[in-house]
Amino acid sequence: MPQPTIGRIVHYRSHGTPGGEYQPQCRAAIVTEAVRGDSELIGLAVLNPEGMFFNRYIPHDQHGEYGGTWHWPERAKEH
Ligand SMILES: [Zn+2]
Repeated sequence: MPQPTIGRIVHYRSHGTPGGEYQPQCRAAIVTEAVRGDSELIGLAVLNPEGMFFNRYIPHDQHGEYGGTWHWPERAKEH
């Protein structure tokens, strides 16, 4: 996997609600900061349909199992 660099577009995995009203979803996100060699320091501008938010120190989870993580976009099908 390539290192994320500033300006790349990745997926942010949103948190679902505990009761399951909202399932976790993939959202487009732009990398706003990334420290080379330390993939733990990733800042994102997350583009939700309802609005944008900014977050830092987002962990990588390429399988998108956990909310609040980022991954490289899937090529064909969504989770
Ligand atoms: Zn995704």
